[in-house]
Amino acid sequence: MPPDVRKRRQHSRRMRQFLFLLHYYYQHLLTLPASVSLRWLLRSVEWETHEGIAIVDVSLHRDVDDRFRKNTIAALGLIKALDPRRFHRIQHEIKYIQNGEALRWASYDRSLLICHIDYGRIDDAGNEEFYLRQYASTLVHEATHGALYSRYIDYTFKLRTRIERLCHLEQKRFASKFDVLDRKWSKELVGEFDQQKYNSNWNATYSQRFKGTIARWRQSWRSRRSKRR
Ligand SMILES: [Zn+2]
Repeated sequence: MPPDVRKRRQHSRRMRQFLFLLHYYYQHLLTLPASVSLRWLLRSVEWETHEGIAIVDVSLHRDVDDRFRKNTIAALGLIKALDPRRFHRIQHEIKYIQNGEALRWASYDRSLLICHIDYGRIDDAGNEEFYLRQYASTLVHEATHGALYSRYIDYTFKLRTRIERLCHLEQKRFASKFDVLDRKWSKELVGEFDQQKYNSNWNATYSQRFKGTIARWRQSWRSRRSKRR
């Protein structure tokens, strides 16, 4: 490559990096105190590390339900055996897999490289294999968000639909490794991209999110009480 072309490319890469950081920190200025508190919380609880990833359970169910810890290790093992390239991406982009009550089943937090999971939402009794495969595909989806951030592509209003489509596609590509002649696992595990689902998440007001979080906590609290009986 001629030196002037290489120089131009380096310059545009640096510019992209600078604009990404500027936009990212501007967007996340208000959530910075929450990230600092979460970091403190993560340091104050015990966790175990598997393949370089910390598995942290701060859910209300942690003392009555061990499925999150057990199935996270199993899901990571499944991805490693089936798809080493995507497993390596998970190791690179996710530092913590943290279980706790939340508005969504899974999400990714770039500031601390956390994949948040609300494992209590899953009732996998009698269908453990299906849910384990679905969980593994979710980890692939969330790590793809991380890989895009690593390429200085921020989750903006303009790009978010394309980003979610791409993560969904990666999740489905991984799930297709389970496909066999008489069963299309990828279709059952991941399905089609549902724009409506994302729109309702993005368009929710602060008050709706707050109410949704409280409702999820109450539901989890009730279920914990019934498991303890
Ligand atoms: Zn996503």
